[in-house]
Amino acid sequence: MNDFSESTGIVPLQGEPVDDIRIFVREDAGRLRFNNVPPDPTSAQGRNDVIPGRGDLRISLTSACNLRCSYCHNEGQEAPWLHAKTSAMLGNIEKLLEIASRHGVKSVKFSGGDPGVYPGFFMLMDAVAGWRQRYPGIAKWGMCTNGVPFVDADTVFTGEKLRTLNVVRAARRLGVNVSVVEINGVMGTVHTVRSKFLELIAEAAEEFRLEPRRYKPLNEIYLYDKRGNTPIKFYQDHCRDLDCGNCRKIHLRVSPIDQGWGAVPCFLRAQSKTIPLMVDGKFDDARFEDAIKYNGQGSQWFKDTPYDPSY
Ligand code: SF4
Repeated sequence: MNDFSESTGIVPLQGEPVDDIRIFVREDAGRLRFNNVPPDPTSAQGRNDVIPGRGDLRISLTSACNLRCSYCHNEGQEAPWLHAKTSAMLGNIEKLLEIASRHGVKSVKFSGGDPGVYPGFFMLMDAVAGWRQRYPGIAKWGMCTNGVPFVDADTVFTGEKLRTLNVVRAARRLGVNVSVVEINGVMGTVHTVRSKFLELIAEAAEEFRLEPRRYKPLNEIYLYDKRGNTPIKFYQDHCRDLDCGNCRKIHLRVSPIDQGWGAVPCFLRAQSKTIPLMVDGKFDDARFEDAIKYNGQGSQWFKDTPYDPSY
């Protein structure tokens, strides 16, 4: 197991500004520890016309899923098995990309439910090929999936204890990058798994000969290779520490709703409270800028705004 006791410098990542970065993961009385940074309320007071941070737009394609994970946050919607299934229309996704492009989107991540059960998945993949040309500002396209629809389930899930490490191994065999999320207690069960999460980071770093460092702009631990690439990233539970200022810079989240699309400013603690982005079937720039403004403002983001459901 790695000893992460040394403070280490960090190389620039993906052109994003980095400075004075140190890692605070260390052996302490036999337990690994990660010191999360305190919330930074001022970081949520930036411009509203540009998606902040890494400019990531996280698009829920469908509320449907093939699993029933206890820790599912379903992008701020009700759990998939409680929710009437809604799926995004391909044309609406394109309109969403248009307005997001006007607001500086740099990457798109498709999520769900699970993208693998989205009925139009292969049409979507064909469309992405064209969108790469049409939206050159979007440099990265990805998806967040449990993997089951795409790989042999037996390859990924060989045992409960090693399940996550086996997903990492499957991704490395396929040559794709992988991110691991510390699970959140959002559906009634609070998980206290940080020490296990840190052990997993240490084991993955050792197995794949990568170096764990804290990426300060988002307060997360990534594993670096010698060229400064980050094939494996670990995202600790930002909600647990109310690290909302960093949450704001991680994703702008949108889900299909009855009125077309809704932004989800706090997807874990204020579930199902959204900002409808379409008015009379058309995207509204003022609503999109409100989505940026309120994103990552915590569980009470809607108080004293026109989006407060109690009004
Ligand atoms: S804004 Fe909501 S989802 Fe984001 S860290 Fe804060 S409490 Fe969690």
